[in-house]
Amino acid sequence: MSIIIGGGTGFVGRRLITLLREKGFNNITVVSRGTVNTGTEKLTWDDVKLGKVPSDIRAIVNLAGAPLLNFRRRWTEEYKNEVIESRLGTTKKFADLIINKLDKKPDVYISMSGVSFYKPDSVKEYTETSSGGDYDFLSHLANDWENASEQIEKAGVRRIILRAGVVLGSSGGMIASLYWPFFFGFGGPISTGQQYFPWIHIDDLCYLIIYAIENSNVRGILNAVAPDIVTNKQFSQTFASSFYPPRPALLPMPGIVMRFLLGEDRAVMALEGQKVIPQRTLESGFKFKYQTIKEASQHLSRLFI
Ligand code: NDP
Repeated sequence: MSIIIGGGTGFVGRRLITLLREKGFNNITVVSRGTVNTGTEKLTWDDVKLGKVPSDIRAIVNLAGAPLLNFRRRWTEEYKNEVIESRLGTTKKFADLIINKLDKKPDVYISMSGVSFYKPDSVKEYTETSSGGDYDFLSHLANDWENASEQIEKAGVRRIILRAGVVLGSSGGMIASLYWPFFFGFGGPISTGQQYFPWIHIDDLCYLIIYAIENSNVRGILNAVAPDIVTNKQFSQTFASSFYPPRPALLPMPGIVMRFLLGEDRAVMALEGQKVIPQRTLESGFKFKYQTIKEASQHLSRLFI
């Protein structure tokens, strides 16, 4: 039976393909707009729209989404629409496929979402049952993205939504941008560093996806964040000190620079944070490999050297 991965060419998708293969899932198909070679079967979004997909699908995982923290793209209305459409549009294509075109429905549909669903707060603790999705651009985006797959669940397919924190991995995302500044001792917190920094190691996110595929009792919203709750300053200090020899983390990135580079809507992701607890994720029986920021930092700081 095959696993279909929308946006499987990206940072998370490439790691997921490797870990799926290690677990013996060899029948993998990636849905992509481009020609990146993932060594898997390949489909276009038009194929999905037309129902030209393998007949026996075990799971559909949607990882597609135009990057939010793309410093090269200005935060224009056009780019905001691309950010929305790349998430809602691809979700709707999968929903239409599952509900209207597949004779045999998949066991499970898994979608990403983000902790930006929850309003940043320095005190409040958020679990999967906390309310949110009604605050700013990013929380509305998360809410609409989650709701776009609701019909899939109503059609009787097990659905899992992963509200992920910052994904930490060597081959992309935040660590790829921060590694060398920290390596040369120029790292530091963002702004005051007092904001919460919900995070997850990329392997744990991918293992959580595999766990959700394999365990039919797993369903609904899961906070995809590690149980170790830290601030941005604690992350910076731990990451810097995990190099050998330990580096300082004294040079803060001023908030004003983040606002200038990213625009107000997106700067929120770096300048504010949420205290997010993976309550349902832990209750589901999932075991994190990288439970603490120290373990994750020690792994990630040694990957390039
Ligand atoms: P990437 O930035 O690597 O993008 C994933 C894939 O999305 C790309 O490979 C690309 O596939 C596809 N994509 C990009 N732009 C568009 C577009 N305009 N229309 C359709 N598809 C597009 O994402 P990650 O792997 O880092 O993250 C996976 C998902 O998890 C994303 O939805 C992201 O928002 C979410 N997430 C990620 C976090 C992180 O820290 N990385 C944190 C929380 C959530 P192709 O070019 O082949 O079509």
